[in-house]
Amino acid sequence: MDAPPERSAESTPPGTGAADVPPGAPAETAPAEVAVVGAGLVGCLTACFLARRGHAVTLYERRPDPREAGAERGRSINLAISERGLDALRRVGLDETVLKAALPMPGRMMHAADGTLSFQPYSADGRRAINSISRSALNRTLLEAVDALPGTRLRFRHRLSALDPDTGAMEFATHGGTVTAVSPVILGADGAGSAVRAQLQTRPGFDLHQEYLDYGYKELTIPARGGDFALDPGALHIWPRGRSMMIALPNPDRSFTCTLFWPHRQLTALDTPEKVTAHFAEHYPDARALIPDLAADYALNPIGHLVTVRCAPWTVRGRAAMVGLIGDAAHAIVPFYGQGANCGFEDCVELDRCLAETGDDYAAALALYESRRKVNADTIARLALDNFVEMRDKVASRAFLARKRAEHALERALPGRYVSRYELISFSTVPYADVERRMARQRRWTAAATLTGTLTAAGAALGAGALLRRWRGPVTPAARSRGSRPAGRR
Ligand SMILES: Cc1cc2nc3c(=O)[nH]c(=O)nc-3n(C[C@H](O)[C@H](O)[C@H](O)COP(=O)(O)OP(=O)(O)OC[C@H]3O[C@@H](n4cnc5c(N)ncnc54)[C@H](O)[C@@H]3O)c2cc1C
Repeated sequence: MDAPPERSAESTPPGTGAADVPPGAPAETAPAEVAVVGAGLVGCLTACFLARRGHAVTLYERRPDPREAGAERGRSINLAISERGLDALRRVGLDETVLKAALPMPGRMMHAADGTLSFQPYSADGRRAINSISRSALNRTLLEAVDALPGTRLRFRHRLSALDPDTGAMEFATHGGTVTAVSPVILGADGAGSAVRAQLQTRPGFDLHQEYLDYGYKELTIPARGGDFALDPGALHIWPRGRSMMIALPNPDRSFTCTLFWPHRQLTALDTPEKVTAHFAEHYPDARALIPDLAADYALNPIGHLVTVRCAPWTVRGRAAMVGLIGDAAHAIVPFYGQGANCGFEDCVELDRCLAETGDDYAAALALYESRRKVNADTIARLALDNFVEMRDKVASRAFLARKRAEHALERALPGRYVSRYELISFSTVPYADVERRMARQRRWTAAATLTGTLTAAGAALGAGALLRRWRGPVTPAARSRGSRPAGRR
């Protein structure tokens, strides 16, 4: 039986028409009413930003409250947050709280099959770090922040099952039956498999492209050893093995979460404890020794899928409602640049900025937000796919490490003029698409500088050659073909 609507929103139009409001500042007119579907990382942060603007936000989540239920098995346990994510958290005053529970990783530690280790710092000065953070702890911190803000309501165990973008009517499956609600603004922050997006997909002209990798991921645990970390906690560990790889990030409880990124066929081929143990003994011998429950963990832990989602439009304007997509719902990417959540957090900052610029007019703000963010999301999606090859294969080569060292030397020699892509993606908030434009410019001028250097060297060599010839006399064609100097000038 249908429960009565939770809230009638007929009296609140999509935009409040408030005067220009700086980011984070509360709207001065009647609060806009917004439903955010999905209380994951991005949905919670979106709710924080909107509530700080004075908007009334209801957050709907299909799961039980994670503060009571604990972490969900099969989702990545920890993730790396870098400057883009921190910048967003800073704007709502949460960066320090989050960083207190984080472990900085200033570089990568590569594990060769023979156990040789090589460390490669992420930044030229070796000081900047990405931060290993527990996904569930971050989610809990964000939920607490939403809960503490006035005008917010949390609705757990509410799975969106239907949505009419024209009217803003929503249906949720709950333990007590179907619950309906109406909102003039609905934001889909419900992840890569977004139900909100699925509802928009039925409209003519909605474009959806999902690219599944032929790879899956599986998590394993390296527990603390004698109360301490079994590996250096100041690094993101990588076991590059050509077509596949394993990574490990440290956790505050001194364990490491390992993630295997393997072709699906390889993941399913290890179907007995003996096969698992033998495979690890051959390809990951140093890690094998550190995972006591390897075979059991391997059998028990689920295989996750890796997908890139590109869709358009992110915003649909119905007759009486606006629907927008944010975070993975709009642009899920593969995790190989550690940017999915960082990028989703940047969406929240941009939406807040657009609301400020448009006087909290959601129709205008969402259109502006999409026009600014789509190109950046497409860029990081491509870079994340490219980076998989770098992580699983290239980092193992000496030539690659030498190139990275040369790049860092160039960055130190030309501070601010030459900056690596990794630095700009992970340690700045330069829009992703601008990073690529800058990379193209840098490539042009380093190529020009190399060419100038080569030409200068060649010019000097030619000049020296001409002097020599004047001294030695002309080279005859016959002598040139013999490769010898003219007779009599030896
Ligand atoms: C293995 C792996 C490693 C990663 N590592 C990193 C990393 O190092 N750094 C990084 O920045 N990113 C990383 N990511 C990406 C990051 O996890 C995502 O980009 C991020 O979680 C997206 O947040 P989100 O809130 O948009 O979606 P989600 O985190 O998926 O949250 C969506 C929420 O919506 C809820 N929901 C779904 N459907 C419904 C429905 N019908 N009704 C109501 N609620 C619903 C879900 O329960 C969930 O709580 C990684 C991803 C993977 C898979």
